[in-house]
Amino acid sequence: MISPLDLERDFSLTHGNIFQGDMTLDQLFFMRPVPGYADYRTPVRGLYMCGACTHPGGGVMGAAGRNAAREILRDRRRGRLS
Ligand SMILES: Cc1cc2nc3c(=O)[nH]c(=O)nc-3n(C[C@H](O)[C@H](O)[C@H](O)COP(=O)(O)OP(=O)(O)OC[C@H]3O[C@@H](n4cnc5c(N)ncnc54)[C@H](O)[C@@H]3O)c2cc1C
Repeated sequence: MISPLDLERDFSLTHGNIFQGDMTLDQLFFMRPVPGYADYRTPVRGLYMCGACTHPGGGVMGAAGRNAAREILRDRRRGRLS
């Protein structure tokens, strides 16, 4: 058996949350993972986020990665990605 404490200690999952952040109303849609960073982009050019911490969140396998890939292609078309 693996407890949330084990998940935090062994895999650095904050608070042992398997969805990399609660799936609560204040952390969904344009507020996931946090307001201002919900479009899969990061302040580092060429580095994008995906996985459970991003929209649409955990348990929706592959959807966040697909969305991130779409944004990468969009940036590439606009010349924002070298
Ligand atoms: C212990 C545990 C138990 C769980 N049990 C359940 C369960 O019973 N039911 C359930 O619904 N969910 C469960 N989950 C949650 C579920 O695993 C996730 O919600 C799900 O995997 C999210 O899928 P995803 O495709 O969005 O992201 P992920 O499966 O995390 O895939 C993201 C992928 O992107 C890759 N990646 C990340 N950054 C980059 C980068 N910069 N460049 C290239 N690739 C990158 C990663 O290597 C990874 O392969 C569990 C999670 C854990 C940890």
